[in-house]
Amino acid sequence: MQPKIYTLEEHRIVPEKIDTHAFYVIEKLRAAGYSAYLVGGGVRDLLLNRRPKDFDISTSAKPEEIRSLFRNAILIGRRFRLAHIRFGKKIIEVATFRSGDPESADLIVRDNVWGSEEEDVLRRDFTINGLFYNPENQTVIDYVDGFQDVEKRMLRTIGQPDVRFAQDPVRMIRLLKFCARFDFKIHPLTHVALIQCRSHIIKSSSARILEELLRMLESGAAEPFFRLLHEYGLLKLLIAPLSHFIDLDQERRIFKILAVVDDEMRKVFPNTPDRSLPMAALCFPILDLTIRHLMSHSDRIPHLGQIAQEADELITNLFSPFFRLPRRLQSMMVFILTSQYRFTPLDQRPIRHPRLPRDEALPFALQLLSLRTILQPELLPLYTQWTEAAFKAPPVHTEPSTGEEAPKPRRRRRRKFRE
Ligand code: ATP
Ligand code: MG
Repeated sequence: MQPKIYTLEEHRIVPEKIDTHAFYVIEKLRAAGYSAYLVGGGVRDLLLNRRPKDFDISTSAKPEEIRSLFRNAILIGRRFRLAHIRFGKKIIEVATFRSGDPESADLIVRDNVWGSEEEDVLRRDFTINGLFYNPENQTVIDYVDGFQDVEKRMLRTIGQPDVRFAQDPVRMIRLLKFCARFDFKIHPLTHVALIQCRSHIIKSSSARILEELLRMLESGAAEPFFRLLHEYGLLKLLIAPLSHFIDLDQERRIFKILAVVDDEMRKVFPNTPDRSLPMAALCFPILDLTIRHLMSHSDRIPHLGQIAQEADELITNLFSPFFRLPRRLQSMMVFILTSQYRFTPLDQRPIRHPRLPRDEALPFALQLLSLRTILQPELLPLYTQWTEAAFKAPPVHTEPSTGEEAPKPRRRRRRKFRE
């Protein structure tokens, strides 16, 4: 099939907006005789005049060939093998063209069969994500009418939507993510398939879905995203108690706090805080209601230890049976949530000597308090008091110092779950 080619006058992508390392990788691959393009979300975001979060590259070079060309490349992933090329903190993902099977409705377990550049586009999820950009002659190469769909602001699967959703149900979550993020329309056939296939969602890998949820919580569009997940019934299948809470809560507390989180994330982009902050914000309205309910049924005010235990149980129950949160994420969330009751005590007693616990999550706990003040301005004096105390406190050490030089902690690499 002949692709449509769009020139600079038509697409108006400013080359200066493209990451210099991505350019370098493409040039080096091309100089070695391979074809290589910028692809996927990066091209889509450039067309939408947004700042891409990452730049992905697709090439005819096989993973081992990529590795031997770049000293700073490592190969990752079993289900989806690809190369990570590291430049300091930045990682450029380079994947080999894959063939996929756009017609088979079987769940994709591995996706490592190499193919042509056209096949590589056809196995991608949505037309807006199926565009190549060739920096050499500054053209956009379009096999799937993705360029038109970007212009029409339309979300449409590549190929038959019900088959594509059955192959990989995570695509339904991705559909709602783009819908929330860009406020695009969903093509009618894609929409019908979403409704037909939504029950398949629980067949997907929970780690991949969790990764999409976490990405959305820090995207600046978490509120519309969770609203859509709820409206389309996917939230009920994934996090049933949250969906139930939203149904019953006339004050729409979850959406209110998510809207505040969104404003914050847009302000600080791309320096998003730890993911435990938006996750804790998502859980706070439920925990708060639970704690207040407990209090109304007892003559004692729960102490911080009890609150921490409640928070831990609540998180486990909320996300199970489908998800299991990483331990570090959950413990940071518990700390952030429990701290709220230290900052704003349930008995409303005045705080004479604010004592700050030492913990790596303390800045995020204060950040959640700051977000709460937007919804409850009466908390502002307490927020001021606690931040002043934090400012005066000595720097936080997560572990007691022994006086000896501690071994350098191993850098935690955020796992990226791919198709
Ligand atoms: P984001 O802006 O959140 O990074 P993205 O579209 O770039 O969105 P990535 O996960 O970075 O998402 O994936 C890069 C590209 O890989 C996508 O644009 C799409 O072409 C392809 N892709 C990702 N996930 C899938 C999937 N589940 N099925 C088919 N293609 C996919
Ligand atoms: Mg991306």
